[in-house]
Amino acid sequence: MKRPRSEALFARAVECMPGGVSSPVRAFRAVGGAPIFFERGEGATLVDVDGNRYVDFCGSWGPLILGHAHPRVVEAVERAARRGCTFGAPHEGELLLAERIRAANPHLERVRFVSSGTEAVMSAVRVARGCTGRSVVVKFDGGYHGHADHLLVKAGSGLATLSHAGSGLAELGAPSSAGVPEDFARHTAVCELDDADAFDRLIAARGRDVAAVLIEPIPANHGLLLQRREFLRHLRERTREIGALLIFDEVISGFRVAMGGAAELYGIAPDLATYGKIVGGGLPVGAYGGRRDALDHVAPLGRVYQAGTLSGNPIGMAAGLETLAILESERVHERLERLGARLEARVQEVLANRRVDAKLVRVGSIFWLALQSGDAPRRASAVDPAAAKRFAPLYHFLLDRGFYLGPSAYEVSFLSAAHAERDVDALAAALDDAFAEGVGR
Ligand SMILES: *Cc1c(COP(=O)(O)O)cnc(C)c1O
Repeated sequence: MKRPRSEALFARAVECMPGGVSSPVRAFRAVGGAPIFFERGEGATLVDVDGNRYVDFCGSWGPLILGHAHPRVVEAVERAARRGCTFGAPHEGELLLAERIRAANPHLERVRFVSSGTEAVMSAVRVARGCTGRSVVVKFDGGYHGHADHLLVKAGSGLATLSHAGSGLAELGAPSSAGVPEDFARHTAVCELDDADAFDRLIAARGRDVAAVLIEPIPANHGLLLQRREFLRHLRERTREIGALLIFDEVISGFRVAMGGAAELYGIAPDLATYGKIVGGGLPVGAYGGRRDALDHVAPLGRVYQAGTLSGNPIGMAAGLETLAILESERVHERLERLGARLEARVQEVLANRRVDAKLVRVGSIFWLALQSGDAPRRASAVDPAAAKRFAPLYHFLLDRGFYLGPSAYEVSFLSAAHAERDVDALAAALDDAFAEGVGR
């Protein structure tokens, strides 16, 4: 597969954009080679500027649960744009989306829109600090919550594979990014996932200062580190005891694993939750919400300030609303579960037949090929750093056969409603070919 136009565009891009990209993981640093420039997406297919076609399992990192350019979503976007791109004033679209989000998530008594997942988490943390009067936020090793200063501590694979390649992860409570003062990171305490004892020790030492415990209930930014329900329940109970807020970062899992996200899947209601990715149907939208008594601290009602010129943007609201409507009316999650189960079965069969040291970790339409032996990891520290070496050649093997995945061993992949059984079968068959040739072993 040749990509001369992509390569030429990338050569120009590095001359005027840092690393040639608008977001670091897109740069292919973890797998080598030049990133691909795309011209368009249709359903489950991506077409690059050289005319090559790929089955897309990256899905723009999660938002595209309906695939690219779903006709109804495109129509909703066009209709909204014709009525004006932004008002900077209330409109019915944001109300309709807020009502729909709340109907699917009864624990969200109030919802506020922002423009990205980063902003949603940053704002939710501010609310938690504002209404508790405390400063410490507990997060978990490997959890990514966007790029707000105080959350760039042990934060997922993008940082682990880029900033700290070869040097291990950051120290506890120390920033993983330059430009973040140590003072900021001091208010962030980091705990291991799936370790209730470590969490309890942390709470015993600093519990009175903890404003919020922030977790991706389905941690999907350093591989897919599925948690036991009991661990999440433990966090729920302890936070209640110490008067801290439990924040579920559902930027990936929200509307992905169920209309009610991980909260519905596990039957656990957090105090606050954050959204991005799917909630905007492919446009830059984020949201946070939760208990009314917490959200009533937000301006204009309360003293926690949070604002945005383009927040509740009519085009983003229209795309999100149409996406959620389709998810519900077409029972998309049930279909995705069946498709995911088929992929899992096919791939596990390939791995067993070829005796490959790896496993497919999956929940619904989120999957991750863990290139390591033993049980599926539940903690970032149990993820094998050596997988990156095995993954790079496997990545290029799949790419050249027309499969586009996130360019890192530790990124999860996504199925969409636009994928067909033949797409998942083809991916399993391509993996079989790779392992037969010794690639990725
Ligand atoms: C992607 C992501 C974010 C950040 O969202 P952006 O829209 O990229 O700012 C936050 N939390 C989680 C869990 C994410 O996956």
